Amino acid sequence: MSEVREVGADGANSAVRRAMGVQYLSWNYDQMGVVGTLMLSEESENTIAWQRFLPGGPVALLPLDSTRSSLVWSLPVEKSRRLLALPDEQFVDELNDALWKQHDHISSVGTCMSWMEATLRRIGLPDGATRQLPPSVRAIVPKSRAAFPLGFGHSTRYVANGVVLVGDAAHRVHPLAGQGVNLGFGDVSDLTRLLADAVYSGQDITHPSWLEKYESTRQRHNVPTQFAIDALHRLYYGDAPPLVLLRSIGLQVTNAIHPLKVKIQIFIGTHDME
Ligand SMILES: Cc1cc2nc3c(=O)[nH]c(=O)nc-3n(C[C@H](O)[C@H](O)[C@H](O)COP(=O)(O)OP(=O)(O)OC[C@H]3O[C@@H](n4cnc5c(N)ncnc54)[C@H](O)[C@@H]3O)c2cc1C
Repeated sequence: MSEVREVGADGANSAVRRAMGVQYLSWNYDQMGVVGTLMLSEESENTIAWQRFLPGGPVALLPLDSTRSSLVWSLPVEKSRRLLALPDEQFVDELNDALWKQHDHISSVGTCMSWMEATLRRIGLPDGATRQLPPSVRAIVPKSRAAFPLGFGHSTRYVANGVVLVGDAAHRVHPLAGQGVNLGFGDVSDLTRLLADAVYSGQDITHPSWLEKYESTRQRHNVPTQFAIDALHRLYYGDAPPLVLLRSIGLQVTNAIHPLKVKIQIFIGTHDME
């Protein structure tokens, strides 16, 4: 391995990564992430990120200030194209529908969940029957709507031929967990820390061993996180009864056991789970 000369931070379609000639494992989710800036119906503290999982993908509102939130709505490609083409008012109607509409429950799943709620109550744990309501959206900031393809990507090497990759150039995840930027921040933080360690200990920072440390440290963190997010996407995509039952029980138990809930909230970076 040669000395490091460049850092590749040019995103998921990284030309730097291609030039490095490293292997890249990737697949598409056949979904687009529709984004936009939303005006909320009521002024509030607005400090809670809110996400609802729907059969076509999750819709998330991320607080900006007391009256505005940022939208990330994952949708099948065809539906996202249709929504992008709608006038602003109709788009907001569809969005409020997605946030608020009560869907018909599958009866076998409903029976299991009622039994589960009763059991949790009997053993003195919260049954998850009360839920925080989502905000309602008044309008979308004109021309703020856009859509981006969603996919998974993993570069098998972060370091090669004197180049080091950080951020989406090295790894790409579904936005449902809001972790994309954090993974990239972690790369930069670990890379600078390892290079600083080399300087403080009087070593040559261009020596490959420091960069190999960077690669193994980050891959030990990034790869399991990426596959956990991919598994969450698969668990929440679609409405086949066994999947619905599995995730409903999972959420109910998570909601009932507070320490577990806190751990998962920290991991996926959201504060409400429906
Ligand atoms: C719809 C959607 C919603 C998301 N929501 C969230 C979220 O809520 N929370 C979260 O943490 N993450 C989210 N992400 C992921 C997040 O956007 C990315 O993880 C993050 O932007 C990656 O940062 P980056 O700097 O590595 O790459 P990028 O943000 O892609 O930046 C790469 C930059 O390199 C530039 N570039 C590329 N090629 C060249 C070139 N040849 N010459 C010069 N410049 C070049 C590009 O123009 C770009 O500015 C979301 C992603 C999508 C698609």
